[in-house]
Amino acid sequence: MIVGHYDTVHPIGALPYVAEGNKLRGPGVYDMKSGLISAIWAIKAYQDLGIDPGKKIVCVFNGDEETGSKDSTDIIKENVKDAKAALVTEPCVANGNLKTGRKGNMKFTVTIHGKAAHAGNAHQDGINALEEMAHEILFIQKLTNYEAGTTVNVGVAKGGTKVNVVPDTAVFNVDCRFKSMTERQRVIDAIHNLETVVPGATREVEFIDGKLPMEETEGNMALFAIAKASGEKLGIQFTSQFVGGGSDGNTISAMGIPTLDGLGASGDHAHSPEEYILIDELIPRMALLASMIPNI
Ligand SMILES: [Zn+2]
Repeated sequence: MIVGHYDTVHPIGALPYVAEGNKLRGPGVYDMKSGLISAIWAIKAYQDLGIDPGKKIVCVFNGDEETGSKDSTDIIKENVKDAKAALVTEPCVANGNLKTGRKGNMKFTVTIHGKAAHAGNAHQDGINALEEMAHEILFIQKLTNYEAGTTVNVGVAKGGTKVNVVPDTAVFNVDCRFKSMTERQRVIDAIHNLETVVPGATREVEFIDGKLPMEETEGNMALFAIAKASGEKLGIQFTSQFVGGGSDGNTISAMGIPTLDGLGASGDHAHSPEEYILIDELIPRMALLASMIPNI
């Protein structure tokens, strides 16, 4: 299965479509309209040359990837479930590398309940929710493990009403990115099972799931080896890379289907007005995609 998306982050009319030397600029040109063209022309090459690629090729292109593939995930899963492999024609990394892994993500909202009291007359009767939150933030930030590829970020924290009142409520939001299912579970358990430090304080955790990680599985790396061999024949240099951002490749790889991402165009600056592709690398990258298909 070849997977891609035709939506972009740019509003309609926000960017012009222009060619400047070897660079082609335009909304979504790199992420990933050029990847859709690669997919279609790779298949067209087989048709026009009368070559049988030796397998059925199914394309699934969705229009809601940039906002989380909410409506298309079930369609992708249904179409890919019997596939031998998934080739994602998202752009390659700016250095030309293919994407064999992508981080997963998730969020948490933690609400802490204390007890309000007069800060002057009845300080001892209060339970300070902000004090409890301070302990929790320090604990949760330390769940970060750069070596394992896990980042945990408390990005928003709120609480209290007036400076002379012991605050009875505090709320904070946590963003987490991770490379493996093991790390995902470690952080989920740690945040859910955290024990309160301030006597009498209670807490609730809301878990907001995101994308599962695209791990560098054996299947993914075997697909990469096929691409690498095709690249060598074509004289295209690249290696494999684990990247931070997610794609529909995460969902597919997490189903246990060998997935290789980054088989689209070369260029840079996705999600920015500077977005471009390199014109002279467009055809070689299409050839890479087309030539690896018979070897899967
Ligand atoms: Zn994309």
